[in-house]
This record gives sequence, C-alpha cells and structure tokens, in this order.
Amino acid sequence: MKRPHLWIFGSILLGAAAGWGLNAATSPVTTVRFDDPAQYAGAGVKRVDAKTLEAVIAGRDPSEVVRGKYRVVSRKREWAAHPEANRTLASLLGMLGRLFMKLLMMLMVPLIFASMVSGTCGMGDLRTLGRIGGRTFFFYLMTVCIAVATGLILVNLIRPGSVEGIPVWELPERFRKAPATVYELVLMAVPENIFRSMADGEVLPVITFSLTLGGIIGLMGAAGDPLRKFFDALFLAMTKLTSLVLWYAPVGTFALVATLVWETGFTEMARLAWYMVTVLAGLGIHFCVLTAFVWRLGGRDPFEYLRHMSLALLTAFSTASSNATIPVSMECVEEKAKIPHRVAAFVLPVGATVNMDGTALYEAVAAMFIAQAYGLTMGLGAQVVIFITATLAAVGAAGIPGAGTVTMLIVLNAVGLPIEGIAMILAVDRFLDMCRTTVNVYGDLAAAAIVARGEGAVPGQPGVESHGAGG
Ligand code: ASP
Repeated sequence: MKRPHLWIFGSILLGAAAGWGLNAATSPVTTVRFDDPAQYAGAGVKRVDAKTLEAVIAGRDPSEVVRGKYRVVSRKREWAAHPEANRTLASLLGMLGRLFMKLLMMLMVPLIFASMVSGTCGMGDLRTLGRIGGRTFFFYLMTVCIAVATGLILVNLIRPGSVEGIPVWELPERFRKAPATVYELVLMAVPENIFRSMADGEVLPVITFSLTLGGIIGLMGAAGDPLRKFFDALFLAMTKLTSLVLWYAPVGTFALVATLVWETGFTEMARLAWYMVTVLAGLGIHFCVLTAFVWRLGGRDPFEYLRHMSLALLTAFSTASSNATIPVSMECVEEKAKIPHRVAAFVLPVGATVNMDGTALYEAVAAMFIAQAYGLTMGLGAQVVIFITATLAAVGAAGIPGAGTVTMLIVLNAVGLPIEGIAMILAVDRFLDMCRTTVNVYGDLAAAAIVARGEGAVPGQPGVESHGAGG
C-alpha cells in the first residue's frame, strides 16, 4: 500500500464524519408540547419561541415563562425509527473495528517475543543491554516527570473543574476493581508459566522472559547459533505479517472512529470542554517537548521523523492501545527511520508497557479536576502525592484501551478523593484515551531515536542496520 499513513488519516476523518452523521440522525430530539395551547395564549404568550423552549427544557419554573401545562417529549428522528437497520449497522461497524484490534493483538505477543529475543541475543554482551536499558529508563523517567509537571501546572492555571453543577452519576461496575499495588506489579513481571502469560497477552512477563532468554542465548556463543537464527527468522516473518495486516488498517480505523463518535456524540464532549482543553493542551505541549528531544538529543530532523512515525501515531490514535501499536511502531522505527534492531527491540516493547507520559499527565489532570469539581482544595503536599502516584499508576497501566482510567484509582485513593468522581469524566474518556495513547507511543518512538544516537546510529550514515540483522 502506498502512503498508508494518508489512508489512515483519511479513514479517521471519514469515520468521524460518518459517526457524527449517524449520531445526529439517530439521537432523539427534545421538544415541548403544551397540552392546552389556550392556557398560555391566555397568559399573554402568543407563540413559543426558542428562548421559552430552552427555559422549559432546562427545568426552570414554567410559570416564569408560560402559564400552562406542558410536557417535554423526546421524539426519535426518522432514522431511529428503524432500530433493526441501526443495530445491524452498529454491529457491522463494531465487528470491523474489533477485527482490526484482534489482528494487531494477534501480532503482539509473537512479535515482542521474537523481536526481543533476537534483539538481546544480538547485543553480544550484557554490558550493551545494561547501557541501552539504562539510557532508556533514564529517558522514560525524565519525560514522565515533565509530563506530569506540565499537567499539574495547566490544571492549576485553567482550573477546569471549578465550575459547579457537574452531575455525578453511578460508577459502572468495571471501574470498581481494586488497583494492583506496586508489590503486585513487580510480581506480575515474573511469569509463572510463560505459555499461559503468552496466551493471556500479558506483556510484562513476556518481556522478562524474552530478555532473559535472549541474554542467555547471546552468552552461549556458537552453541546458541541455531536459536539465534530461528528467532531472527521468526522476527522477519512477523514483520512481514505486520505489513499484511496494515492493508486492513484503513477499514479498521474507519470503523473504530465511526463507532466512537456515533456512541458519544459531540454534545457530551462540549459539556466537559474545559477539562478536555486542559488535557489536550498538556498533551500538545508534551508532544512538542518530545519533538524537541528528537531534534536535539536524537539528532534527527523532527519533521522527517514525525513523517516516518505518522503511521504508528495514527494507529495509536485509532486503537487507543500502545500494545496493539507495537507491530506498527517496529515497522516505522526500523524500516523508515533505520534505527538498529537491537535498540528498537528493547525500547519499544518496554516503552509500550512502562512508558506512558500521556497517561500520567492525564491522570494528574483528571484527579485535580475531580477535586476541583467537588470543591476540594489540593495543597502542595497533596499535589506532590498526585505527582508520584500518577507516575506510578501510568507505569502500572497496561497498554490497552481504558487501562489508565482504572489505574487512576491509585491516584484518587492516595489523596482521598472519592473514586465515584471518575464517573464525571467517563463520557469523554475514550476520546482522551486515543489522544493520550498517541503521546504514550510518541514517547517510545522518541526514546528509540535518542537511544539509537547514543549507540552510534546516526541518521543518514552507513552502517545502520535494518531488522533481522540481530545486532
Ligand atoms: N490506552 C493507553 C495505552 O494503551 C493506556 C491508558 O488507558 O491510558 O497506552
């Protein structure tokens, strides 16, 4: 496929337009019907104008507006009169979208496994792994701190939650799950049964196992050659499979975005406008900070790098899943930006699991928003706790849609905020999830450029290997 990123970009726009059209066509229209028109005519009201309608719908005392009996009626639009057809269309879109997610998830575990083993066994010695690992973690820690600080500064300046009257509705069951503690997270990283972890798609244990196995094969010398060759070939096969799956990406993206916009609509989004503005401004600023790092620390032309990474970023946006994006990120980083396999194989899967700048920023803003909306003051101490817990909660969040919303319970618990507050922001959560996942993935892609430079891979110079070379 030529220019896949343009195809996906077009699908996102088309999906948003289709979803919006469907939402408008199928949502009910609210009107006011007066039982006895003579009554309000008698009250001196000649006709019901738009303002009167608005006041009645908004629940003001109708006697202020019109003296007369009225009913607020919700009427379905023409389209909604065919529930069968709507259901079929919705389930078709849902199926096309889920198929895309499934195809990406299908690639995820074998790709992480093959790529990490072949990448680490090609490093030659454990010192290289230590160096790459050290640089990667340092960069991840630095950027997540910048992200949370940006979020906290913005939310204190904009104060999106200080408007009163935001209704709190019942918290859905799936958000009542208790979060894992840090201790549990460490235990989760070690597989009890690697095959079960693979089957369940648990990334952290697969990373631990792959790194260890790759390291051991690397130390085995000639005796490990057959395994090295096997994993190199498996990785190559997985990248080819990824290219194949990407043919389906425009359809999948269209379906995912259309479903989201159809279900949510733009009216809900408008209600939480300031909250969204705060999160999006924070994510935007952090995106620019990462771009500056790519330029200064990674030594790359930032615009060219962004163009190379656009396919991965658009996939992250449409799937809202760092894990599902790994195959596409690998392809962009190795094929387009020519970053060495040994760097990409380590930085990307680890980043998809632990590096979530966008999620950390979002969690800090959301916690503060909830506090502001409840009228609670968060002092410096409480904000430091939010800073630390938002960072940890983001590390603990899996790279799947909505994971950050669940781990946010850690932040809310830590500063004693009511967890029901999450319900306030659920309506726009999926859209913000798409945006924060894009920043999460961009953080990993930026790290790949920076760590690669530290490893001596300078863009445009010979000696930069491609995938499968094994280091
Ligand atoms: N969906 C995000 C990701 O996959 C995690 C989150 O919910 O914030 O990176």
